[in-house]
Amino acid sequence: MEMCVIPGDGVGVEVIPAAVRVLQEAVSGVQVHYADAGWDYFQKTGNPLPDETVALAQQCKAVLYGAAASPSYPVDHYYIPGVRLRRVLKTYANLRPTRYMPVPTSRPGVDLIVVRENTEDVYVGQEYTQDSGRVGISEKVVTREATERIAHKAFQLARRTNRQKITIVHKASVMTQTDGLFRKVALEVAQEYSDIVTDELLVDTAAYWMVKNPARFDMILTSNLYGDILSDMAAAWGGGLGMAPSLSIGDGVAIAEPVHGCAPDIAGQGIANPTASILSVAMLLRHHWDREQEARQIEEAVHAVLSEGDHTTDIYSEGAISTVDFTDKICAHLSATRT
Ligand code: ATP
Repeated sequence: MEMCVIPGDGVGVEVIPAAVRVLQEAVSGVQVHYADAGWDYFQKTGNPLPDETVALAQQCKAVLYGAAASPSYPVDHYYIPGVRLRRVLKTYANLRPTRYMPVPTSRPGVDLIVVRENTEDVYVGQEYTQDSGRVGISEKVVTREATERIAHKAFQLARRTNRQKITIVHKASVMTQTDGLFRKVALEVAQEYSDIVTDELLVDTAAYWMVKNPARFDMILTSNLYGDILSDMAAAWGGGLGMAPSLSIGDGVAIAEPVHGCAPDIAGQGIANPTASILSVAMLLRHHWDREQEARQIEEAVHAVLSEGDHTTDIYSEGAISTVDFTDKICAHLSATRT
């Protein structure tokens, strides 16, 4: 087992090494190769994602990616390396689970997964301005091929993980040609899986239900932008962004990455919650390396440590411990259960 590890910027350099430690505690013999990418690397070299990093990711076929800072204004030659890497590795499905965790910020009864198309929509990066910069235009791309692929992935995952219902989320009432195509193709694919209940919601209604009654959802199948937003909303019910894992998968290749970004407001203080990164590694073990037992052991260790009341400051400040101390506790728990 080989893994390309890209900590990136901000809290990435704190939480990603923590997740590597936990992985190495749970599984012996994983070869870890650290690689560069991100805003800091771009400032030094003028390149956000060097070819060597891409080559290493392609060779390992498993990546653990932290986060990269992304200014909200155009910077010549800069792009978000994670988005590019997903495209290069063709990881077309992004899985973002949220379930109740034993912390006061989590909501009992929630257990859902957002399956997000990862290659198309407005994330294709085809944007330009007209009229001397007075008009901004972004292209939204939806294809039958990519929608069939993500829909089959979602229904197969639902079967494999015993989920009963898939909610297709779109805004076909307004974007009849793009979301309309997504809806039509997803509903066609659904007919091949009559054992799974299918329903559909407009994205604004889905957002309302995500706040009002998140237990209504089992699995959500949606496009890139809506999946990004709805999964961050869902993350609040799982205890917060510091606890939200994700895995992007393609054919024989996967990128594990926390849902959160580089969190510049807390970076460098040693207080970031490593849980999202640690649970992302567990997803890599389960879905990519087919190591269910070790994935469960990691998840159980996280649950046990949280149940004992140990927590980082994003959960609540009183009695909070550092990233390293929290990781030590998870490793100690794993070590105790393995001996
Ligand atoms: P980016 O531009 O990289 O998306 P951001 O600050 O806009 O950065 P996030 O990094 O996702 O977005 O952070 C959103 C909020 O969640 C911030 O207040 C941040 O401190 C908090 N947060 C994110 N990740 C963690 C973490 N691992 N532990 C604790 N708090 C976190």
